[in-house]
Amino acid sequence: MINTEAVGCDLLVVSPHTDDAEIGLGGTLHRLASRGRRVWVADLTRGELATNATPDERWAEAAVASEILGLAGRVQLELPDGFIAPDDRDQTGRVVALLRRLRPRWVVTAPDPVRHPDHVATPLLVRRAVFMARLQGWQPELGAHHLWAGGAALPAPAARWEVEARFAVCPDDSAPTLLFDISEHWEAKTRALAAYASQFGRDAGQTPTTINDPAFLARIERRARTWGRRAGVPLAEALCGGGATVLDDLPDARWGA
Ligand SMILES: [Zn+2]
Repeated sequence: MINTEAVGCDLLVVSPHTDDAEIGLGGTLHRLASRGRRVWVADLTRGELATNATPDERWAEAAVASEILGLAGRVQLELPDGFIAPDDRDQTGRVVALLRRLRPRWVVTAPDPVRHPDHVATPLLVRRAVFMARLQGWQPELGAHHLWAGGAALPAPAARWEVEARFAVCPDDSAPTLLFDISEHWEAKTRALAAYASQFGRDAGQTPTTINDPAFLARIERRARTWGRRAGVPLAEALCGGGATVLDDLPDARWGA
C-alpha cells in the first residue's frame, strides 16, 4: 500500500520552461482537465536566458495558457535556466519538496525537443527526485517559487511520496507507450500555444529563433498527425516510459471498431 493522502493532483507535468508542457502535451492536458482530472504544470526555471521576453512576461503568458487548458494549478521554481543538473543536491531537493507538496499520481516530463541541455537533464533530475521523494530521512525545502494565481494553492508537504508512474513526452524517434486522442482538443492546444506570443510570434520584432519560425508549429501538427495515425484518430499526443501498463478493464469505445 502506497500513495496515501493524495490531495489534489492526478497528473503533474514537469518541464524546464513555460511552453514546454503545452508544446508536448497541451492537447492531453486539456483533455484530462476537461474530464475532471486535476492537472498541474511545474516549470523548473523562469526562462531567464530566453532570447525573447523577460521571465515576468513569460510567466504572464503561462497564466493565460494555464487558464485555456483548465489546469488545476501551476508552479514555477527558480532553478537556473540552462543549468539544470540531475546530480545537483539542491535542485533534486527542490523537486522532491514539490512532489511531496503536490502528491501527483502520475508525473510526466516534457523534454522534447531534446536539443536543449535542460530538456536532456530534466527527465534525469525528475527520475532522481521521484525516487528520493520516497525517503523520509531527507526533508529538503521547496525554495523560491511562483504560484499561478488562477489555480489552487500548494498543500502542506507530506513526509514522503511515491508516484504511481513516470512518463516522458515521446520523442519523434522513440516508441510510444501511451497515445492520447487530442482531435477535439487541438484547438485548445493551439490557443494555449498562441498565448506565448513572445515565444512563437515574430510580429513584435522578436529575434528569430527555432520556435518562432512558422515551421516549428507546422512540425508540432505533423507530429500530432503521425501519432494520430498510430492511434487511428486524426490527432494524438504520445508518452513513453512508465513501464508496462496494467489495465483494469478494456478501455472505452473504439475497441469495437
Ligand atoms: Zn524548453
